[in-house]
This record gives sequence, C-alpha cells and structure tokens, in this order.
Amino acid sequence: MKPPAFDVVIAGGGLAAQRCCETLRRGGFDGSIAMLCGERCAPYDRPPLSKAVLTDGREPHPPRFKPPDWYEREAVELMLGHAAHGLDPRSRTIAVTVGKAPQARGRLRFGQLVIATGSRPRRLPCLLPGGPLYELRTHADALALRRALRQTEGPLVVLGAGLIGMEVAASARLLGRPVSMIEAAATPLARALPPMLGRWIAGMHREQGVDVRLATSVRRVRLRREHARLELSDGRTLSAAMVLLAAGTEPAVQWLAGSGLGPGAVATDAGGRTRLPGVLAAGDAASYPNAYLGRPAATQHWEAAARQGATVARSILGLATSPAPTPMFWSDQYRRRIQLVGHAADGCLTEIEGNACGGEPFAAWMASGGRPCAALLMDRPDLVPQARRWIAQSHAESPAALPHNAETNTDAGGVTCHTCP
Ligand SMILES: Cc1cc2nc3c(=O)[nH]c(=O)nc-3n(C[C@H](O)[C@H](O)[C@H](O)COP(=O)(O)OP(=O)(O)OC[C@H]3O[C@@H](n4cnc5c(N)ncnc54)[C@H](O)[C@@H]3O)c2cc1C
Repeated sequence: MKPPAFDVVIAGGGLAAQRCCETLRRGGFDGSIAMLCGERCAPYDRPPLSKAVLTDGREPHPPRFKPPDWYEREAVELMLGHAAHGLDPRSRTIAVTVGKAPQARGRLRFGQLVIATGSRPRRLPCLLPGGPLYELRTHADALALRRALRQTEGPLVVLGAGLIGMEVAASARLLGRPVSMIEAAATPLARALPPMLGRWIAGMHREQGVDVRLATSVRRVRLRREHARLELSDGRTLSAAMVLLAAGTEPAVQWLAGSGLGPGAVATDAGGRTRLPGVLAAGDAASYPNAYLGRPAATQHWEAAARQGATVARSILGLATSPAPTPMFWSDQYRRRIQLVGHAADGCLTEIEGNACGGEPFAAWMASGGRPCAALLMDRPDLVPQARRWIAQSHAESPAALPHNAETNTDAGGVTCHTCP
C-alpha cells in the first residue's frame, strides 16, 4: 500500500510552520497540507515560556497561535505527537514515528517538504535533565520549572548567560528566588555583544541580586536526592535546589541524517530552498544567506523564524522573495525591553544616547570596520525603525552616516569609535 500523500508536508509544529500554513492559505493555495507536530499540542509561541509562564499567578495554557478549530477550517491536517524521523529525497517520503512507541512508524509522501523542526537545548554529555536539572524549550519544560520555582526551597543556579538563561534568572528574581548564574565566557552574550555592553548586562543582573560568575565553568556536578552540588573552575562550590541547563541551542535536524542535508542547520537560498528539489527549510533549523554578515547564518530568533515561514510559503506559491530586513531580536528581563538590531559581535560602541545608569532608557550605537552595524536598545522600541534604516543604509552606501551626534571621521571614511584604542 502506498503511504498517504500531501502536496505540502511541514515537519515541525512551531512558529515557522504556523506562518508557512497561514501564508499558503492566504495566498490561495488549495492543495493538501499536513503539519507534523512532535509535541502533543498545536503550535504555540515560545518567548512567554521564560517570562510570563514562569511569573504569572495562574498556571497558564500553552500560548497558542490559533484556536483549535482554525486548522480544521483551513484544512490543515494537524498530526499531533507525530515526529519526522527520516527523509528519503528519492522517493519523496518522510518517515514518521507516533508518540514514544518505536513500532508506531509510518511514512508520508510529499509534493514539497518544509523542514521547520526548530532547535533544542545543547546538552553537555555529563549533564542531562532530570531530578533538580532542568532545561527549557517546551511548554512542558516551562511548567516543570515553574512548579520547581514555587515548590522547592533553595537557590536556582543557571548554567549559561545566554538569552534564555538570563530571562529565567530575571523571572526567578521577580519571584524572589536566590539565583546564581555561571558563564564560561568573560561576558554574557559574548557572541552577540561587544564586551562593554555584555558587562553592562551582567551589572544589571547583579543590581537585581543575581550572583553572576563570569569566566567560570562547572567542573563537576554531584546530585544528592533533590539537590545538586556544583564544583566550579574557581575552586568554589555551590549548592542548588534547581539547576537550569542553558548552554545554548542547536538545530533539531538529527532526523535528517543520511538524507544529504546537514549536519547542522539546513543551508538554503534566500527563498528557503535547499539543495534537494522540493525540500525547503525555515526557522531555527535553517541557515539563510545573511547580507549583513556576508555569509549564511542560523539566527534562532523569533522574527527571523516568522519571516522565513512566510518566505518558504511564497516560494511554494511561486512568488518573489522580498529582501530580509536588518535582523533584530528582543528579550524581556526585569520588565525591561532589550532589543538588538543588526549584528554587534565585532562592533565597537560609538555612541550612547540617553543614560545607561540608573535604569533609564538608552540606545547604544555600534560600528564595525567604520560602518554602522548594530544598536542595542533598552526600553527604546521606538528607535527600531531608525536603527534598521541606519544599518541597512550603511550596507548600501559608503561612508556611513551616523544618526545622532556621534563623531564621524571623514578621513577614515567612517565612524570614530569611542571605546577602541
Ligand atoms: C524559552 C524561549 C524563549 C524565547 N524568547 C525569545 C525572545 O524573547 N525573543 C526572540 O527573538 N526569540 C525568542 N526565542 C526564540 C524563538 O522562540 C524561536 O526562534 C522560534 O520559536 C523558532 O521557531 P521555529 O518554528 O523555527 O522552531 P520552534 O518554535 O522550536 O518549533 C519547532 C517545533 O518542531 C517540533 N519538532 C522538533 N523536532 C521534530 C520532529 N522531528 N518532528 C516533528 N516535530 C518536531 C518541536 O517540538 C517544536 O514544536 C525563545 C525561545 C525559547 C525556547
């Protein structure tokens, strides 16, 4: 018997998958669509998991994108608890497992396949979740952490000062819990921010009572009943009632092994097409060309995943791809809105607009190689469009023009940096 066939199969049931379905149907696509959701619930939004889901009074439901009847009305076959398990590009079939039962396997045929399986927490071989060790990717993870934050006595130790680690640290402090945050790099978000701004963010957490330990790693973890003892590289020992494993994420694409795609995030063109005909990719699992970095990159942020979900749908509909805007991500910590527009890793600070001390809103403008490259906005969402224009222009023209009263060094054809020697 031939496996069931769909015109479009979407592997993954998160943000990118949802945006792909919506854009297909809005664009008049009347073919059959199946969405494989590895989790047993319809697509929901992840950013609240490290924020409101942990701090709000009532136990929340998954923050769903659409009411349950939307999928029926839009004729989207929602296959809950069905995980993509393998891809055979020659027969254009995908292997599917159902729940945890290994014998419950099947295959689906596809006209076009969209890979949208997102990412998953990076695991250290010696530290797997369980007991007092937690990770955070799904609503179920968030509920477990939420319960522990309310019911367990003793401190939380966060391993990793990335976005999720810092957001959980902030939520736990808002709940009044003692928190330590351990980071192996010299500053938080070291791959995304210049050291000076990373130090500023570490300072914000310290002001809120977090014991932040930078350039420190964990040598050993001893589990005793429901407690953990962590031996650190600086020779000290910490005792924890809960440990959040937040050492970054990796694309959830292991199921593609042997298909000709991967390993790592799936490389695509600007329209989300992979090197295999009829196979596209979007969201955290994908690596798109990035004009701002001058190389392909997996962004693993909300805005890019939403846009790429719509992009692959446009490619399926035969429509042109619109150019990607300047990248942006946001984070909410201690009820402050942090936004990073552009790519700042190689950037130097050129100008601070506003007062970075005392919890005031401010904007930090950055340049790299004499060109504007990024802006860190603290409680200044109004500046996002301006920051985007500023960075986009700098890629289109030379020399770049700074938006404010930052100094420009016309001899050097660019921006004078206030922090570099
Ligand atoms: C706790 C948390 C907080 C965040 N906060 C922010 C924020 O403040 N700002 C920001 O810009 N970004 C934030 N992000 C990142 C943002 O949510 C992601 O970039 C976005 O969700 C990526 O969308 P996606 O569709 O690619 O992947 P996902 O949303 O992860 O969806 C992928 C889905 O595919 C499923 N899946 C995985 N493997 C399989 C398989 N083999 N078969 C079938 N299904 C599978 C997964 O269970 C999941 O439901 C946050 C992420 C997390 C986890």
